[in-house]
Amino acid sequence: MIHSVLIIDDSQQERNEIKNVLEATGLFDAFYEAPDGLKGFKLMLSNPPDLILCDLVMPDFDGFKFLRLKKARQDYDNIPVLMVTGRDDMNDKIRGLEEGAQDYVLKPFNPLELVARVKAHLRIKLLQDELKQVNEKLETLSNTDPLTGLYNRRYFFNILEREFERTKRYNRSLSLLMVDIDFFKSVNDKCGHLVGDKVLTVVARVLKTDLRKIDSCARYGGEEFVILLPETDIIGAESVGNRYLTEIREQDLSDICKEIKTTTVSVGIVCLPDDAIKTTDVFLKAADDALYAAKKSGRNKLVVYNNH
Ligand code: GH3
Ligand code: MG
Ligand code: MG
Repeated sequence: MIHSVLIIDDSQQERNEIKNVLEATGLFDAFYEAPDGLKGFKLMLSNPPDLILCDLVMPDFDGFKFLRLKKARQDYDNIPVLMVTGRDDMNDKIRGLEEGAQDYVLKPFNPLELVARVKAHLRIKLLQDELKQVNEKLETLSNTDPLTGLYNRRYFFNILEREFERTKRYNRSLSLLMVDIDFFKSVNDKCGHLVGDKVLTVVARVLKTDLRKIDSCARYGGEEFVILLPETDIIGAESVGNRYLTEIREQDLSDICKEIKTTTVSVGIVCLPDDAIKTTDVFLKAADDALYAAKKSGRNKLVVYNNH
């Protein structure tokens, strides 16, 4: 992994001195330099470094101004700033720390002390980055169905609540499709559970293909899926549903299971606005009712909920 440092100082000579000391440590692969706080801030945005050394006293745009700008950008909070100051002024140090700096080094600096402080803060920064990555991975895992890679039911409920509220408040469109594989029990019976699992992944792949970024596709139960389409009316939802029917029907499963070769799904659709649907439970129940009607009327088809 590449580690970088940004040195902000109005004196080229000071920047060189710091750079020379840090270069000798081998801690960093890239060095960025800026002669004032504003240029330093822009450089931080375009090339976020792992650590910043910032002079406090600079003409025009000083270190305090830099710290204040940085503080307003929370997404850069993880980058530690070490103030480098020639004035051994307690007020300056306190102010800098309050403005978000992690530490300070006095000029003229002792190279060993500079390196020791840089190392300590770099270590914390890298550990925090790692922790953040692990947390993100855990969050993804806790939202995902392991077999299909789709959202799981729990996470789907979160999305549904949010979208449902938004749709109702602004009187927008929202479509929900409930998709259930036809006669899936016989796939398991004829070909075994492992093959059944493979068929589930094939169907899941078709369902999530060509969806928009704002759409959500989740595994709702064993062989049942839900697809939420914000800002989509009946016409749009039916076209997605019809695409699913065709594409799944046309999937060649003979490599996976010789006995079945193909499979079909049934689809229930419900769309907002609908004044009679006031809760997400009723919304889900409506999709389920439509799905049930599709099953009862012969499967391999879609039915749009209509209670009016
Ligand atoms: P219908 O056309 O009415 O939907 O009939 P069906 O056989 O698909 O429906 P049913 O609800 O009777 O059976 C669903 C089957 O799905 C039963 C269960 O064993 C199977 N199933 C549920 N979860 C999984 C899974 O994770 N893997 C596999 N292989 N099978 C599963
Ligand atoms: Mg089924
Ligand atoms: Mg089912």
